[in-house]
Amino acid sequence: TWGQVCNQLQKAVGQNNYTTWIAPLEPAGLTDGIASFHAPTKFMRDWVSRNFAEPILRELRHAGVTVERIEILVHKHRPANSAPAPAPVRSNAPAMRKPANAGDASLPSAPLDGRFTFDSFVVGKPNELAHAAAKRVAEGGPVSFNPLFLYGGVGLGKTHLMHAIAHDLHQQRPDLRVLYLSAEQFMYRFVQALRDKQIMDFKEMFRSIDVLMVDDVQFIAGKESTQEEFFHTFNALVDQGKQIVISADRAPGEIKDLEERIKSRLSCGLVVDLHPTDYELRLGILQTKTENYRVEYPGLQIAPGVLEFLAHRITSNVRILEGALTRLFAYASLIGREISLDLAQECLKDQLRQSERKVTVEEILRKVAEHYNIRLSDLVGPKRLRAIARPRQVAMFLSKSLTTRSLPDIGRRFGGRDHTTIMHGIRKIEELRASDSQLAEDIDMLRRLLES
Ligand code: ADP
Ligand code: MG
Repeated sequence: TWGQVCNQLQKAVGQNNYTTWIAPLEPAGLTDGIASFHAPTKFMRDWVSRNFAEPILRELRHAGVTVERIEILVHKHRPANSAPAPAPVRSNAPAMRKPANAGDASLPSAPLDGRFTFDSFVVGKPNELAHAAAKRVAEGGPVSFNPLFLYGGVGLGKTHLMHAIAHDLHQQRPDLRVLYLSAEQFMYRFVQALRDKQIMDFKEMFRSIDVLMVDDVQFIAGKESTQEEFFHTFNALVDQGKQIVISADRAPGEIKDLEERIKSRLSCGLVVDLHPTDYELRLGILQTKTENYRVEYPGLQIAPGVLEFLAHRITSNVRILEGALTRLFAYASLIGREISLDLAQECLKDQLRQSERKVTVEEILRKVAEHYNIRLSDLVGPKRLRAIARPRQVAMFLSKSLTTRSLPDIGRRFGGRDHTTIMHGIRKIEELRASDSQLAEDIDMLRRLLES
């Protein structure tokens, strides 16, 4: 019946999650209400236990299995696609194997940005898995998955994570030869080697690497001989049990003009996507960066609510969000004013216009009514019952913070109420939100619903 359970799980957790996490599990028995499974790596064991134990249990029970809990063990034998661990002893390695560090001249590593470290990377739901996987690679231990394939839209932290891996490895495993470069640089070096008739050196150099990281691999799509060479390099390293990390702007299968065999090689390790940021992550990033700016611009004050405002309004990508904050600090220090909401709006006119959200008061009313299970007509009607008045105030609050409507304008949409009534409602919610965590949670959830 594991087969049937799998079918259900596929629906419950989605195809991607299923393929990555559930399919590799092997059922290993059921005793005393404990269902055991074998996972190929520790990393998978931990991740599955943490994130998929619930759905697995649920579907097992649905299928009529009496089970208390599940247990996942690491299976010693390695799956076909992962190579044996690299030899831990390096002392008898050839003399040419100099310790690699950022300055190893024999490695044409692209320069690393010193700011892109794990410390400065803010972790949230959208990038949690990518971060965990990158951390694992950065330990420099035996290969757990090969390659690690990170993909996602522009500005979501792929390059940051790869540099962070390189920094950590340089520090903790100076014996490893770590090479980070973009796919474009890979091609450039390859073409150069062909031209200078040094292709053997090129091959030798790339095959002597312990950890290879290639950024923006989509670049080699359509470039046949570069692809070919990349494929051979990739295979040679994987066969030697060397770690590979790849990034791209989309999943392996979706990169056009990339040979099928390369796509399938790229997919056979761990494929992780960096999701677009959510509000919490954006706020976290802004707070972290603000801490740094406090050092750079001592004495500059930020009014409460400014970071929240930016996190709501600038949703496209982290690079643009950072750019906005940098601009804001520079501007405020130049004119010697506190960073207020007004200043932010004035200074970031262009950035804000681009990311104008389309949430309408009508949508807000509908969602709030739905959430509190009251009628839309009551929400905008005259009833003063607490069970209706409170949600109404929540809707007023959300209308003010999520749309650009003026108070009188909002009043009209609330059954023709006066702008002072709207103002009062907003104040009330601001006040209550600080002490009433249920209310704060409701608001957060509604906000997320409306923004997605
Ligand atoms: P990508 O390579 O995916 O296009 P980058 O890694 O270059 O994106 O990230 C763009 C900018 O955003 C960088 O300055 C990076 O430091 C920053 N950034 C992205 N994600 C995070 C994060 N989670 N925490 C902190 N900074 C981030
Ligand atoms: Mg990048």
